[in-house]
Amino acid sequence: MILILTPNVTTGNEEYQRLMRFLAKLDNIAIRVNQEQGVERTLTEIYLIGNTAALNIEDMKSLPCVEHVVRVSEEYRVLGRHKSDNRPTAFDYNGVRFGQDNLNVFAGLCAVDTREHVEEMMKALRDYGQVCTRMGAYKPRTSPYSFQGHGRACLPFVFELAGKYGIKVIAMEITHESHLDEIHESLSETGNPTGVMLQIGTRNTQNFELLKIVGRQQEFPVLLKRGFGITLDESLHAAEYLASEGNRKVVFGLRGMKTSIGDPHRNFVDFAHVSVVKQLTRMPVCIDPSHSVGARSHGPEGILDTMHVTAQGVIAGANMILVDFHPRPSQALVDGPQALLLKELPLFLEDVTVAREAYEKRLELFRRYH
Ligand code: PEP
Ligand code: MN
Repeated sequence: MILILTPNVTTGNEEYQRLMRFLAKLDNIAIRVNQEQGVERTLTEIYLIGNTAALNIEDMKSLPCVEHVVRVSEEYRVLGRHKSDNRPTAFDYNGVRFGQDNLNVFAGLCAVDTREHVEEMMKALRDYGQVCTRMGAYKPRTSPYSFQGHGRACLPFVFELAGKYGIKVIAMEITHESHLDEIHESLSETGNPTGVMLQIGTRNTQNFELLKIVGRQQEFPVLLKRGFGITLDESLHAAEYLASEGNRKVVFGLRGMKTSIGDPHRNFVDFAHVSVVKQLTRMPVCIDPSHSVGARSHGPEGILDTMHVTAQGVIAGANMILVDFHPRPSQALVDGPQALLLKELPLFLEDVTVAREAYEKRLELFRRYH
């Protein structure tokens, strides 16, 4: 059971202390308090864990400071959508809103290679009004002989250039807890010119110890990619690891499933699950068309498969797009063959707008008929 308290309650408050004294006396129930600092208010939630079946919702609602009570099902306790659940489906980070009702594009390099390429990419993003990007510094590779990413060495110039071009959030995969410290240090050393959304890649979706460490920090939001060979339920539980440790700023990423059924695409595109994830949880949903399709193949009309599947995800209500671009794909050190070209950026963005408008029209249509 979750007790959602009236906004801006402080722990020093007499009523709050009365509530806590009452809760402490409940038999076989552990209490966990979570406070989240929003833009305008502090949200306090109290998790009652254990034998809560006997507790009456109305009784709990009448306790001091309690505004709302949610009885949670066992599934996805923190991030799930439960009955009469009015908890937020959005969060803000570094001036950018991430919600189940809006859309952010993260176009960028799969892997940082040269400073010049990073600068060209970011300049193009700025020119087309974008404030988010993807930039991989730590790359999990199939072969130990492949380029592993520049790691910490590239962070200062990536962050400085982000500041120069007004980029507010960089999605960046980490594969080890030390990367978290390196990102934090490098951001401080460069004067925090930008923000970072930590990405947990599909190979680490069930790296529970990494999830716990990333979940314990609340400085950076997290993009958790779905595991490529596990069920949706298992991946959603992985997201819950982050939240149960305290970090609820989680975006869930669909990136295709590894199976020969998806051939000739690199992965079997799973964007039909955009709406499923939004039904089951309060997380914004990201789609990654680049790692799903994995090539620059196109239909007979000339539209790239990557753009087709992007439109499919967006028309179904996706909230974030992670997409590979490169100024010179032939020189890319990772995933060049699937990268879109910088000159395709305005086309891509317009196509996304077309699909988003179609989604909004569909929303209107369904509202009219219900
Ligand atoms: C990536 O986004 O660069 C990546 C490696 O993705 P995934 O974890 O989905 O393979
Ligand atoms: Mn890649």
